[in-house]
Amino acid sequence: MEKKIYERPHIVRFETGMPGKFGMRNDLPPTTHIDGVAVSELVTRFGSPLFVLSENSIRTAYRKLYKAFSTRYPKVQFAWSYKTNYLSAVCNIFHQEGSWAEVVSGFEYDKAISNGVDPRKIIFNGPAKTREELVKATENGSLIHIDHLDELYLLIDVAGSVSQKPRVAIRVNMDTGIYPMWDRFGFNYENGQAWDALNKIMHSGKLDLMGLHTHIGTFIMSANAYAVAASKLADLARSLQQKFNHHLKYLDLGGGFASKNTLKGSYLPGSDTNPSFNEYAEAISSALINSHFTQGELPLLILETGRALIDEAGYILSTVIANKRMSTGRRATIIDAGVSLLFTAFWYQHQITVAQGNSQYREDTSLYGPLCMNIDCIRDSINLPLMNVNDHVVIHNTGAYNLTQWMQFIHLRPNVVLIDEKSNAHIVRNKEDQDSVNGNEMIPEHLAKFE
Ligand SMILES: *Cc1c(COP(=O)(O)O)cnc(C)c1O
Repeated sequence: MEKKIYERPHIVRFETGMPGKFGMRNDLPPTTHIDGVAVSELVTRFGSPLFVLSENSIRTAYRKLYKAFSTRYPKVQFAWSYKTNYLSAVCNIFHQEGSWAEVVSGFEYDKAISNGVDPRKIIFNGPAKTREELVKATENGSLIHIDHLDELYLLIDVAGSVSQKPRVAIRVNMDTGIYPMWDRFGFNYENGQAWDALNKIMHSGKLDLMGLHTHIGTFIMSANAYAVAASKLADLARSLQQKFNHHLKYLDLGGGFASKNTLKGSYLPGSDTNPSFNEYAEAISSALINSHFTQGELPLLILETGRALIDEAGYILSTVIANKRMSTGRRATIIDAGVSLLFTAFWYQHQITVAQGNSQYREDTSLYGPLCMNIDCIRDSINLPLMNVNDHVVIHNTGAYNLTQWMQFIHLRPNVVLIDEKSNAHIVRNKEDQDSVNGNEMIPEHLAKFE
């Protein structure tokens, strides 16, 4: 008979769902399966740590958001924000659902092309496009969103050397009541820069002005900020109609909707407090429908939602390496996934559950990763049941930004697996090997040998 593991006796006060002085209790049930596949099986087959993405969650989130907008506004188009997660398998799920591509660098632009996106359905944002990239995007008929005057002048110059007319919009930044205001990208609305840029475009006669763009920030907790943004873009569109009799094809409200993650320092979980898709859709749609546009004149509404569409579809599976006591008496658990894989640990309190049946006894725990660096802390305080070495934990809501901002630091990056809608697991990015890291290095002749 197997010897039972000793557990020290304890008394726990009976509580029923009331927040304590540390916020809500966190007695989450173990996560033994993801989309019908056992966590233990995934780790056995693909290793630990492991990134897991749920195709079903991605499609469900997309359809929910699309429905929230398309029931309220006649013409809606989503463009997948590549920098949020540009694994090709992920991009192609969004493209299959009908999303265009929203890219912010030449690398991402080429990636969208190689994924097979129609170049006319690529939106090219970002503050740092090269002349070569502008020429390519112009010749391809992509939508170029101008960020600053230097880019505007460069593009006017490019327009003189290619046969196509660049199809453009400008990025507008503005006060929407969200502070600090994101004013480093695009042209400011309040001080007249945006109107100035639009006049320069119209008078140049060299660019095809298609639309207006704004991206007011990220993880925006106020739906009303989007109503303000939509009204300000509509005002600029009206000025263009009045002065130039120019009708824009689209208004692009960018991304920035909050996912269900919980920001650090929040008292209540994000799943309870963050605005819903319907609230964002209602704010934007109403602002546009109630503006000056007459029937049939409403421009296409483009949305570049990133994190809110993919965060919940991502998990990191990780394994307990060790438990220890800190000098303060607090329990610490070391797991094999660190902040090099979970960049978002710096601003979210990620929900973390155990992956197997567990003890009733719970204790505040610091959860550390495997990096030999003091900042490698996944949660500084989380109430978790006792776990043993080799037990697994599941880190939730990790689908946004981690697979693009992860870094290779002292460990090789792990496999990424997608679970399809029939519960089949596919590797969508292979784990790295020595050659992934060392393959690009070169050793000068004089350093080739030593005794
Ligand atoms: C990052 C980014 C997005 C996506 O933002 P989320 O906050 O992830 O929704 C959309 N548009 C632009 C221009 C961006 O830079």
